[in-house]
Amino acid sequence: MTVHTSRADGDPRLPFRQVHLDFHTSPLIPSVGEDFDAEEFARTLQEAHIESVTCFATCHHGLSYYPTRVGTVHPHLKRDLLGEQVEACHRHGIRVPGYITVVWAEEQANQHPEWRQIRKDGLPAGRRPLGPVGLHDWQWLCMNSPYADHVAAVAEEVIRGYPVDGLFFDIVMTVQPGCVCRYCLASMRAAGLNPEEDADLRRHALRIERRFMERISSLARGLRPELPLFFNARLRLTGDPEQGIRPEIPYYSHWEIESLASGGWGYGHFPLYNRYFQILPKPRLGMTAAFHRSWADFGTVKSQAALDYECFRMLAGGAACSIGDQLHPRGRLNAETYHRIGAAYAAVEVKEPWCRGAEPLAEVGLLLRPEVESGTRSAGLESEQGAMHMLLELGSQFAVIDRDTNFESYRVIIAPDFVRLGADLLVKLREYLANGGALLLSHESGLTADGSGFALDEIGVEYLGPSRDDVEFFRPEGDLAAAIPPMDHALYDRGSAIRARAGTEILGSVVSPYFSRAWAHFSSHAQTPPNPDSLPGFAAATIHDRVAYLAHPLFRSYHVHGYPVYRQIVGALLHRLLLEPLVRTNMPTAGEVTLLRQRTPSGEERLICHILHYLPQRRTPDLDLVEDTIPLHDLVLDVRAGWMPRAAYLAPDPTPLPVTRDGNYIRVRVPRVAGHAMVVLEH
Ligand SMILES: [Zn+2]
Repeated sequence: MTVHTSRADGDPRLPFRQVHLDFHTSPLIPSVGEDFDAEEFARTLQEAHIESVTCFATCHHGLSYYPTRVGTVHPHLKRDLLGEQVEACHRHGIRVPGYITVVWAEEQANQHPEWRQIRKDGLPAGRRPLGPVGLHDWQWLCMNSPYADHVAAVAEEVIRGYPVDGLFFDIVMTVQPGCVCRYCLASMRAAGLNPEEDADLRRHALRIERRFMERISSLARGLRPELPLFFNARLRLTGDPEQGIRPEIPYYSHWEIESLASGGWGYGHFPLYNRYFQILPKPRLGMTAAFHRSWADFGTVKSQAALDYECFRMLAGGAACSIGDQLHPRGRLNAETYHRIGAAYAAVEVKEPWCRGAEPLAEVGLLLRPEVESGTRSAGLESEQGAMHMLLELGSQFAVIDRDTNFESYRVIIAPDFVRLGADLLVKLREYLANGGALLLSHESGLTADGSGFALDEIGVEYLGPSRDDVEFFRPEGDLAAAIPPMDHALYDRGSAIRARAGTEILGSVVSPYFSRAWAHFSSHAQTPPNPDSLPGFAAATIHDRVAYLAHPLFRSYHVHGYPVYRQIVGALLHRLLLEPLVRTNMPTAGEVTLLRQRTPSGEERLICHILHYLPQRRTPDLDLVEDTIPLHDLVLDVRAGWMPRAAYLAPDPTPLPVTRDGNYIRVRVPRVAGHAMVVLEH
């Protein structure tokens, strides 16, 4: 094995233009790497403005792509592919982190069936001998078995043998609720855990995963202290910080948010996860792919507009960019793919000086409920997704927060639908309110953990229990009557019956239907119409001092039904609480606006306002596609700031934009935005 010289060690800068180059290659495919030309490979990447390419040491087939003493080289590979990739890329100034598969490894599973993860029902996790081979149907190996020694040996071999610029460990995960292989049963018994209890299985699985990361990161850092490390398939959103990513932060050098909008994640995934990871330390990148759909979608290429949108959206979220691809088994990159990546990354490169180190500003905190435990996709986060969509469409500057976040950084905290208050959260929210914070709660949020009543007196309402009817109606009152259409609006999901206490302002009332829809009483095709005689009903929206409350799970309902009035209601309440939001625009709801603060290399501060306008369309039963860039014209952008910018322009074009003052706002007029624009306000 040749030992190459190191190039990029010690540079903590996260490359902004990355490619994650998959190479899961079946042992049945011949002539692997035969057409690989190191110089052509590196030149193609360079011409596509790529700064870093993650290349494969090992793959999910359990095969290695370099001469290994501890693993199994692909049977039809006759060269040191990884070594040549690293060497050629370094010559061209491109970094090469190495990819090492963890749980999914066919070859090792075939050699050591006893290393496989075993599901609670006794079957091995993942692919079965004659079973289907879907996206996740690899054989899963257990990190609590001697397989962990194998992965550690691979990592050590790669670090000692190659000047890789980082290691990406993929699939650090356990079958749910936990593994009951012989090693896990033994260690659970030794730890006094009961494998028959799901909670114990989960606790044990988490312990195994964290012990594995601890071992691998100590090993890697022992050999190369500055080596960037990332463990994939673990970035989840959890309301209980102990169960989530927080205790794992030390193992990571940065975050890679895998989110292929057309690959099952959807366009709603990246903004939600990014807005949680933006509150954590360490830089982050968003990862999409150049495929039309998901990983390994050979023979396809993503539309240029979609690729641009996904990359610019990462920049707008304060993240660097990574685009996934898979190298053909013969070893040649697909030219059209790199034309498109090159076009997107050429644009990213010229935008980069205004993006590097820029931090998203947030004045609204979207609080995760304590029990929520999403995977790496957003299943189970319906209320959070509904809230996110509303806030994006309202142009709010927000972050997703958990119990361990410093609440004082936010002017308003939204606790959507199901955030009941345990003791810790209650204490923190009381203190937050006492210090001048504002709260917007809905439905069960604010109840005690047992749901018997509101834990916070500050809400100013009395809880009477779940509402009686299946579909009730919202009649706007007071301020709200001017903000939303004056009619009784359907509330599709059952809410809470509440009574406003004296001194609490009512902004919406519940109008009941004649009856709930059931076999014994129904009318027409859907919900029973509102019964005017039911008034005066319970309160549907209230505000008491700095606390607004909605009796129905409007955030979840918005995720499911998308009724714009729900967003208008939330927008009107937020307006009451914020009065002057950080950003105001006349953008259509399809546009997205984010405000970031950046300190320039010369130490000056500037604000960068990203405007995005792309329109994903559902063109197949399960795909949202973007193919066009439709310009917006004559935007008015207001940014709240107590100063006037010494320069305002649309980066990278330095031509000044006209700036005026409107009260506490800097007002900029933007003549045209084609997809993405950055309005720079130099302090
Ligand atoms: Zn196990």
